Amino acid sequence: MTFDIVTIFPAMIEQPLAAGILGRAIERGTLDVRVHDLRAFTTDRHHVVDDVPYGGGPGMVLKAEPIFRALDAIEQDRGGPLHVILTSPQGRRFSHDEAKRISGIERVVVLCGRYEGVDDRVRERVAEELSIGDYVLTGGELPALVILDAVARFVPGVVGDEQSVAEDSFNRGLLDFPQYTRPAAVESGRVLRVPEVLLSGNHGEIRRWRKRQALSRTLDRRPDLLADAKLDVEEEAILKELRHERD
Ligand code: SAH
Repeated sequence: MTFDIVTIFPAMIEQPLAAGILGRAIERGTLDVRVHDLRAFTTDRHHVVDDVPYGGGPGMVLKAEPIFRALDAIEQDRGGPLHVILTSPQGRRFSHDEAKRISGIERVVVLCGRYEGVDDRVRERVAEELSIGDYVLTGGELPALVILDAVARFVPGVVGDEQSVAEDSFNRGLLDFPQYTRPAAVESGRVLRVPEVLLSGNHGEIRRWRKRQALSRTLDRRPDLLADAKLDVEEEAILKELRHERD
């Protein structure tokens, strides 16, 4: 898949993408990401990307034409039809399932709004609007990074150990179990020990303990997830036990 991001602040996207797992995936060519400066698609001398809203009121609105030109150029570049996503607090809520779905789309473009948003006529070219949560940010750059990061984890080869994606929170509708690393005892006012079972070397027991922890956390923190969770027979039994204990 290819990923194109259109923004008036390319540095806000490029710098975070230089580091970490995404940075490596881009370097290796596993992820094909390009960042486009909207100003490059203006035709006036001052590279104006925004203007006052029709009808009056505060703030500025991103102009439609530079965005249309950017989309035309990207389509030319990528050699095929684009799936354009507009970041917007008015969009459908982005989620694990949405990320997985988008990872299967061939040519994705994310548009980053600013100020009061974009000229509504841009929607003519938009396949879907996505919100990353019920709050308003100053721009679409952080949402674009959130979307790219979550989608990229589903692209084969991006996350080294495929197993870790399969076991992450939400994948089966459960939160992840708690993790610990060395040393076995640390101090912060008192001695904090790693749960004994993890040191036991008994893989059957460890697996069962982890299932129990994942279920217990989900039950306490996000019981809403359990309605759609895909549980095996053992997990169903553990969940029944946990519910019984809590009654
Ligand atoms: N006046 C607009 C908000 C504009 S915020 C409204 O009330 O709908 C400026 C830009 O930030 C938006 O165009 C969008 O690209 C981005 N943005 C802000 N909050 C967001 C959110 N929760 N999810 C996704 N994008 C968001």
